[in-house]
Amino acid sequence: MNSPQTILEKYWGFTSFRHSQKKIIEEALKGNDVLALLPTGAGKSICFQIPALHKEGICIVISPLIALMNDQVSQLKKKGIKAEYIASGMSPKQMDYVLDNCIYGSTKFLYLSPERLNSIFVKERLKRMKINFIAVDEAHCISQWGHDFRPAFRSVVQIREMAPEASIIAVTATATQKVANDIQLQLNFRKQNVIKMSFERKNIFFESHHTENKIPAVIHYVKNLNGSGIIYIRSRKTCEELSRQLNKHAISSEYYHAGLYIEDRKNIEERWKNNTTQIIVATNAFGMGIDKPDVRFVLHFGLPNSLEEYYQEAGRSGRDGKPSKAALFFNRNDIQNLNSLLKYRFPKRKIIQNVYQSIANNGQIAIGSGENEGVPIDITEFAQKVELHPLTIHYAIKTLENSGYIFVSDDITSGSKLKILQDRKEIEGILLNDGFQSRLLSTILRSYTGIFSNYVKISEGKIAKILTTSIDQVKKGLDIFERTHVLAYQKQVFLPRIFFTTNRVSAKNLIIPKEILELRYEVAKNQLDSIIKYAIEDKKCRTNIALFYFDELPKRKCNNCDCCHKDSTKLNHEKYIFQLIESNPIELAQLVNLSKLPRATTISEIRRLMDKNKIIREGNVLRIKT
Ligand code: ADP
Ligand code: MG
Repeated sequence: MNSPQTILEKYWGFTSFRHSQKKIIEEALKGNDVLALLPTGAGKSICFQIPALHKEGICIVISPLIALMNDQVSQLKKKGIKAEYIASGMSPKQMDYVLDNCIYGSTKFLYLSPERLNSIFVKERLKRMKINFIAVDEAHCISQWGHDFRPAFRSVVQIREMAPEASIIAVTATATQKVANDIQLQLNFRKQNVIKMSFERKNIFFESHHTENKIPAVIHYVKNLNGSGIIYIRSRKTCEELSRQLNKHAISSEYYHAGLYIEDRKNIEERWKNNTTQIIVATNAFGMGIDKPDVRFVLHFGLPNSLEEYYQEAGRSGRDGKPSKAALFFNRNDIQNLNSLLKYRFPKRKIIQNVYQSIANNGQIAIGSGENEGVPIDITEFAQKVELHPLTIHYAIKTLENSGYIFVSDDITSGSKLKILQDRKEIEGILLNDGFQSRLLSTILRSYTGIFSNYVKISEGKIAKILTTSIDQVKKGLDIFERTHVLAYQKQVFLPRIFFTTNRVSAKNLIIPKEILELRYEVAKNQLDSIIKYAIEDKKCRTNIALFYFDELPKRKCNNCDCCHKDSTKLNHEKYIFQLIESNPIELAQLVNLSKLPRATTISEIRRLMDKNKIIREGNVLRIKT
């Protein structure tokens, strides 16, 4: 069997492990459960991939996002390592094939979303695999104290029962003591075992700007920057707006959010990765698994929900170790918005009861029945009906799901529909052109009948096949027709379907545990306060604030943040003024004239020094207090 070092060289081409990686891998190979807390970009994947390659058997990797799984699986495959994942939307036959290969074949890694562990089909197969390690990526999702609690993660411990020999390797970039303890508890660690690397990022300059008018401030700021950057924004609309403004100022940028076609997103990401685009303006849909080493700055336009999230996103800057920047731009409004969002995120019990009742009524489910029944729900429509904000509904549903009453699946769709809006003559005019739009239209006319008078169900996939193009291309073509009023296009929507996991109970008998509502509210509130405090701070060392938050005890100031710099300019100003006075005690007016600092700075500095009793005024003359 190859040594970990040989595996690292052979498959990754790296010459050495980073310090913590080595320790983590050693622990895992000793058969100990281990929790690794390493900042983003530190190289957590290798920590479970190398032990798994070293040992016979298959490693089950639990990961919260399809995008992450996809990324890691394709990277492994590129190295010639057999890795697979099970995604929703796979046919039972495909799943069968993958799972069989995990039992009888030589698959080394199986990536699963935690929800998959609820499937008996998957569980039965897992029992028959020779599991060497259970890896839990983004392990903070298991903890209600974390910033991204996913109750389904709690099922991971079931694999432990199926494979008692396998040890657990859990990794996360979230680092508070409380979360770390909880992860180990939830995963049933045989012995507490945490390996933590400092979260200090010495090459990143951290700063925060309180500015009411953020767009001009950001434009001014990035104008002076070189290299690749990311700007994070919450709202899709603002993403688009800021990107437009940047381009107007000749700063090359593109926007990225979950509302874009997947194909477009890929291209945008690609152009940014190969530096054709300088800046990507994105919602937090962008980033997980992004691994660009030479990002020179990460800006936040507005505030994220927590310091954990901020550090994770800002940490995408400077992975190559070269000097980089992380800057927050925020205003009073952002603070207010965070607080009001919190209200939506944690609806009142009464409202949750209401929503439960309305969903059941909507699905005509009587009290005492309904177990395993599914009710499709269009949240926007439903919200109007019950006169609540869609976000309130969304979070009420989430709370009900976390409390075990319902289960939400989003793979039910109401297919796309089309109707031609113009008459045959005009349509024939379009068909006379050549080009994609014309071919698209003629394919539709040939494939569907009755489309001139009624909405007809269509399949973009089928049309794409006929035209030998991608589904996105078809959708785009249809969008164009819709904009030019050639046809009406109702896109396929993914309606979540709500399954009742128990028979309907009377709303007043719903049990919503405190841990799910009030305690999580407290957690979220503390997290909010932490990021707000960090943002408005203008004195204490920023790195120290963050490190304290992550339960580290920093020994000194970082000297690489706006606060530390402010401190040192202050110190420089102080020295300078002392020099001016020292050489000859002078009058205030004279001193102001003599000083090479801006007039206002000189005056405020003198005032500060007088307040601190470091210089005194005797008659008209200033002296240094001895
Ligand atoms: P994380 O999950 O901690 O954010 P990843 O596992 O995605 O980080 O790794 C980040 C990058 O660091 C990857 O490009 C990876 O190949 C690289 N990397 C990991 N370990 C090493 C190492 N020992 N030497 C050099 N590069 C490494
Ligand atoms: Mg990772």
